[in-house]
Amino acid sequence: MSEKASNCTTCSQSYSHKRYIVFALITLFALIAPFIRIGGNHLFLLSFDKQQLHLFFTSFSTQELFLMPFVLIFGFLFIFFITTLGGRIWCGWSCPQTIMRTIYRDLIQTKLLGIRKNIANKQIKPKGKFALEVVAMLIWAVLSLVIASNLIWFFIPPEDFFNYIQNPSEHLFLIGLVLCFAIFIFLDVVFIKENFCIYVCPYARVQSVMFDNDTVQVIYDEKRGGKIYDEHHVKIGKKPLGKDDECIGCEACVHVCPTHIDIRRGMQLECINCLECSDACAKVMGKLGKKSLINWTSENAIESGNKIKFARFRTVGYVVVLLIVAIALAFMTTKKEHMLLNINRDSSLYEINLNHEKMMVENSYIFLIENTDNKNHAYYFNIDNPDIKIKRPKQEIKVSKGEKRKLVVTLYTEKQLANNDRKDTILPIVITAYAKDDKEKINVKRDTIFVYPKSTVIEQKRMQH
Ligand code: SF4
Ligand code: SF4
Repeated sequence: MSEKASNCTTCSQSYSHKRYIVFALITLFALIAPFIRIGGNHLFLLSFDKQQLHLFFTSFSTQELFLMPFVLIFGFLFIFFITTLGGRIWCGWSCPQTIMRTIYRDLIQTKLLGIRKNIANKQIKPKGKFALEVVAMLIWAVLSLVIASNLIWFFIPPEDFFNYIQNPSEHLFLIGLVLCFAIFIFLDVVFIKENFCIYVCPYARVQSVMFDNDTVQVIYDEKRGGKIYDEHHVKIGKKPLGKDDECIGCEACVHVCPTHIDIRRGMQLECINCLECSDACAKVMGKLGKKSLINWTSENAIESGNKIKFARFRTVGYVVVLLIVAIALAFMTTKKEHMLLNINRDSSLYEINLNHEKMMVENSYIFLIENTDNKNHAYYFNIDNPDIKIKRPKQEIKVSKGEKRKLVVTLYTEKQLANNDRKDTILPIVITAYAKDDKEKINVKRDTIFVYPKSTVIEQKRMQH
């Protein structure tokens, strides 16, 4: 990889061009993903108002959030793995902050409005172009609103979002949220800039503990280039002193750096791995027929001259654990219940009624049904004891997709189920609820009890009649 990385910096496809392509793909994906629906479900949606999580086009009710720990564990492990393997690859290639700064500085300010001459020197502040700066800010203000809305679409789906904003007075919270995010994005990109990466971002602070000597980073090849800083990180000079040292001290790598550091000083917290210094050096060295002195490689690879060691104990360990969590996640997804049912008994133990000279014992329950499937269903119930029947409801229960319904269900028996004169008899029963149109897939069983009164109570009731 080190050899390959070096070669890449001298070829026409610089890291910058590759990053622009990746940025464009990520931006496009982020914009389009909330609009893609399969069976009414999104790729990712955490809806607080509907209390639903959509993951890979499957919807889960918030009562089914047993999946969430697996998703979080997978997410954290993946970040640890990718950081151990590729260092701050996230910062340089995928972080929204980096992408937004590139759009604002390189695309709007430089390419579109010519406020900056080129992207080669990010240290110089553009002067005397106030009007154009204001135009850049206005363009960015509009884009900030789009980006803020795009972020919200992962929590309020676009189909609802565009409905809600047509009635702003009824959705002031949503409007306020979009405006707050947009203002933050605007201020962050225009004024805070890369200081966010240096001083605010928590990931920048923790990632270095995940590095080892085989982690891929942006490294200045001191063996070839020569020493610019001593062991106390004090600058010796603009150019190295040795006659064979290849660095010519042009400092193109320093001028291009968006976080204003000199990579020849060694690994620094401020480095976001954008590789622009590598591209800058590749241009300078390319004119001398040499490879870039700044490479995307590992300390061990540069020291030994060998390839980067990707498969090592830590990375293999992460892959194994990630696979286990992914399999567990996939397995849990198959366990999804397409309806949820909670059964509680109501406050009375039982009722005794006389029905055509027959004693009828009734027990009532409160059912809470939630249709977590992506279509409407009609439900009905079964009792595992043939002597216990359903008094009400008489009809099937219709529940629309995503809807919850609470209803009272009364069971009864006309049979003598027990004959105990000292205490009521508790009879365990199993209630099966199922969708009439898809009994195979949508059916749940719940254990509960049927209370049959002691014989003295029944006798007393008979006497009253
Ligand atoms: S761009 Fe390359 S040659 Fe120029 S100062 Fe940086 S490392 Fe040295
Ligand atoms: S030193 Fe600067 S230019 Fe080089 S990768 Fe790091 S942040 Fe980018």
